[in-house]
Amino acid sequence: MPAWVCRTCGVQQPPTVKPPAECAICNDERQYVPPQGQRWASLEALRAEGCRIEVRDLERGLTGIGAEPAIGIGQRALLVQTAEGNLLWDCLGYIDDEGVAAVRERGGLRGIAMSHPHFYGVCVEWSHAFGHAPIHIPEADRPWVMRPDPAVRFWQGTHSPFADLRLLQCGGHFEGSAVLHWPGGADGRGALLTGDTITVVADRRFASFMRSYPNDIPLPAKTVRSIVAAVGSFAFDRVYGGWWDRVIDRDGAAAIERSADRYIRWIEGRAQAFSS
Ligand SMILES: [Zn+2]
Ligand SMILES: [Zn+2]
Repeated sequence: MPAWVCRTCGVQQPPTVKPPAECAICNDERQYVPPQGQRWASLEALRAEGCRIEVRDLERGLTGIGAEPAIGIGQRALLVQTAEGNLLWDCLGYIDDEGVAAVRERGGLRGIAMSHPHFYGVCVEWSHAFGHAPIHIPEADRPWVMRPDPAVRFWQGTHSPFADLRLLQCGGHFEGSAVLHWPGGADGRGALLTGDTITVVADRRFASFMRSYPNDIPLPAKTVRSIVAAVGSFAFDRVYGGWWDRVIDRDGAAAIERSADRYIRWIEGRAQAFSS
């Protein structure tokens, strides 16, 4: 029985003979069902269509893992490599033997954690490929676990899966929306891996904060303030959003503060146009 993957969000369901009628993630107001209706794929079908894993080493101790062509929302995962083991941050809706081999070459997987449910992908498959590595999910997002598995461990607030990696629940986009602080990133200046919790936008001097990105639903000022305050206790220079080119290379903390200020000025109706 295939464990069906939603073609719109890339999130996998438990194995069933026939595909499920609906995807709860895509039915939610933060996502959407495309005009042609709900569509599913098995991993075998994706493989037959020519899908493959793309691996890019991004900096010392960090490797991006994406799918080509992109699946669902098109995010890439990040493999954070530490002396005490590797964490897969965010996930994608695909896995194959080449992808598993690439992770194994870099020391395997000790755990998996995602920024939010849109990026759960086929995390259970990745976990099973690496000895049922723990999947760390915030308790608040338990209802969004589409494929339950004994490897899933729930946490809340802050959580260190191992080494000096720290997960921080920020809320906002989802109640459990989280970031990962990696002190060893950016040559020791620190990196914050944010997914859609703090999304790096096309103008890479800025980030944004939304309840829904595809449906343009904003967040209230107080929520944006609390997200920024939550990450304020971490030292970091670089910010990795959810896609290959969504990276703030330097001064990430200042960029996030500047972005929150601009966002709040606009939603409170006291903005002036920004020029550099
Ligand atoms: Zn979906
Ligand atoms: Zn999202």
